[in-house]
Amino acid sequence: MTILKILYWLGLVAEIVIRAPYQKTARTGPKTDQRVSRTENFVLGLLYVALIFIPLIYSVTNWLAFADYSLPVWMGWCGALVLALSLFVFARSHQDLKSNWSPTLEIRQDHSLVTDGIYRHIRHPMYASMGLGAIAQILLLQNWLAGPLNLLFFALFYFLRVPAEEKMMLDTFGGQYREYMKTTGAVIPHLPR
Ligand code: SAH
Repeated sequence: MTILKILYWLGLVAEIVIRAPYQKTARTGPKTDQRVSRTENFVLGLLYVALIFIPLIYSVTNWLAFADYSLPVWMGWCGALVLALSLFVFARSHQDLKSNWSPTLEIRQDHSLVTDGIYRHIRHPMYASMGLGAIAQILLLQNWLAGPLNLLFFALFYFLRVPAEEKMMLDTFGGQYREYMKTTGAVIPHLPR
């Protein structure tokens, strides 16, 4: 259905617009730690191929039609709902993280540990929103190449990035981050006791 493809692209544009102001600040100011890994950059590259390049070919040509699948209409609309939730979490996490956001792992000289807003409940809302977006993609782009590949690459990214990021946060904020880890889940909030 064309409308689902249009929603997919609108979602991507919304993400770019939400992120744009933070992208600017992330580049400025001195950094005290930078942990860039080649493997992670490679996986990030794969993620962009699955997020933009293949969906673009799928949307403007019929070359990938051999790999189409068809889901019931209601599942397509579920995809739209999951996409909306993903965008909400994406926007909230950028608002809460502010200038502490960066595309790769780094610590700013003026870095502060954020433990409120959406970060009060989960440590990785931005990655949660990427995961939700990847699930939405499976429901919106009903094609084996344009749909599910992103979730696969996202899983690879997540399991590489999160341990490295938490190690960096522990090295930087020590006990403060350790305490923070006790009260939060990675992407699913702890149940209240
Ligand atoms: N994992 C987080 C943040 C992603 S952006 C999320 O999913 O929302 C990655 C950068 O955020 C890292 O380089 C790290 O410096 C910073 N960061 C991660 N958690 C943070 C926190 N609680 N407070 C401040 N900065 C944080």
